Amino acid sequence: MQVQPPNPRSLMSEPSGFEAISGSLALDFVNTVANRGNPEKRRELLRSPADLARWFRTVGLPEIIIPATRLGEAIAIRERLFALFHPIAGGGSIGKAAFAAFGEDLRAAEAERRICYEDGRVSWGWASEATSLHKATYPVLAEAASLLLSLERTRIGECKGPGCGWLFVDHSRGKPRKWCSMSDCGNKAKAQRAYRRRTEK
Ligand SMILES: [Zn+2]
Repeated sequence: MQVQPPNPRSLMSEPSGFEAISGSLALDFVNTVANRGNPEKRRELLRSPADLARWFRTVGLPEIIIPATRLGEAIAIRERLFALFHPIAGGGSIGKAAFAAFGEDLRAAEAERRICYEDGRVSWGWASEATSLHKATYPVLAEAASLLLSLERTRIGECKGPGCGWLFVDHSRGKPRKWCSMSDCGNKAKAQRAYRRRTEK
């Protein structure tokens, strides 16, 4: 699936902490927690429906505002995606319970999709009773299914930055990808190596 590059102006005016660096829409959604691997520094980036809408904009999806009462469900869907992909990133296999839970989330969103015919055009749309939560999360869940079905599944990795915990698809040739981004964890590691070299002299 083609993901539009983030709009640099919106990122500059609103430093949201969102970065679409994983190479997969599904893993970018999983990465909407900063310092996921460090319980003390863990920071939720989806604190309001507006945050979620901003994330949609960052990744080039329609900016759907869900009711505040359903934000918890969107976050629960994200955490179920993390439970699904995290073991794979560590070289393990897919967990049965995590896979079943993901299947339920996908089925619930998919059940509200409709093929529509209007003015001579056929397109994918939604049932009139479809919830904004399902409309909002469907593209992410569908992308997660594509990732599981593709060989890219074997290329899922986790950033080696201490406490980072972000997941990505490793598209690198040769050396395996270590960092979520060179400008973040990659740079920190470089600075640390340089510091150690200086202090060891
Ligand atoms: Zn990282």
